Amino acid sequence: MEGIIFNIKKFAIHDGPGIRTSIFFKGCSLKCRWCHNPESINKNIEKYISTDKISDKIFKTEKNIGYKIGVKDLYKEILKEKIFMEESNGGVTLTGGEPLLQPHFAAQLLRFCKKDDIHTAIDTAGNVPYDNFKTILPYTDLFLYDIKFFNAVKHKKYTGANNKLILNNFINIIKTNKKIIVRIPLIPNINLNIPEMKEIRDFLLPHKGSNFEKIELLPYHHTGQSKYARFNIENKMKGINEPKINEIIPIKELFESAGFIVKLN
Ligand code: SF4
Repeated sequence: MEGIIFNIKKFAIHDGPGIRTSIFFKGCSLKCRWCHNPESINKNIEKYISTDKISDKIFKTEKNIGYKIGVKDLYKEILKEKIFMEESNGGVTLTGGEPLLQPHFAAQLLRFCKKDDIHTAIDTAGNVPYDNFKTILPYTDLFLYDIKFFNAVKHKKYTGANNKLILNNFINIIKTNKKIIVRIPLIPNINLNIPEMKEIRDFLLPHKGSNFEKIELLPYHHTGQSKYARFNIENKMKGINEPKINEIIPIKELFESAGFIVKLN
């Protein structure tokens, strides 16, 4: 079985516990304005023109974004890092893009990991049919679940899709008792404000329990901005600054005072 990915990141430390190998799947069903991996959104392998300067000469070459890879070949790559995963209580994280748009490929890969006792995590935006979750559920230890808005109209405006499916899937996943960490991007001028965060807190609070007690806040940053020019994609975040710490701390405190363990990423 083959899937389409666009990157393998080794020694990742922000995608779940310990040292991890993160696999970046191609394709996403959202189109967030602030996406740090805009080249991930299209599910197909795409072409772009790469410009390289050597001495004073400029070379233009056609390159691919994304590639097909067999599940066994990908797993061989993962196994090379197993020692670091074991020593750090790390593992493998499927991210993207949206890994749950290729659920059978993801499930096979995770199944191999679980056979070798490797910890597995899925970083998902949740905007896929619940059947896709069911496919990977038996082989997944941890969900990193993105919540961007509670308000459906704003969600649609800034990500291109309604959030009904995302919120329903979240509730279904909570019921399975799988471990979940909710990740909230903090985007200036979009959701970086207390009323927006209070709505998310009020949605999350009734679901707090032993399998869901951690929240990660992901302040908007400029890493990834250069990709918009490189891949010739319109950048709707031009001129937006990264948030200041005094804008982030009240949000951290808001979730902490509701009893959540909050981490800034
Ligand atoms: S869900 Fe993530 S990968 Fe998809 S568009 Fe939004 S930020 Fe990008």
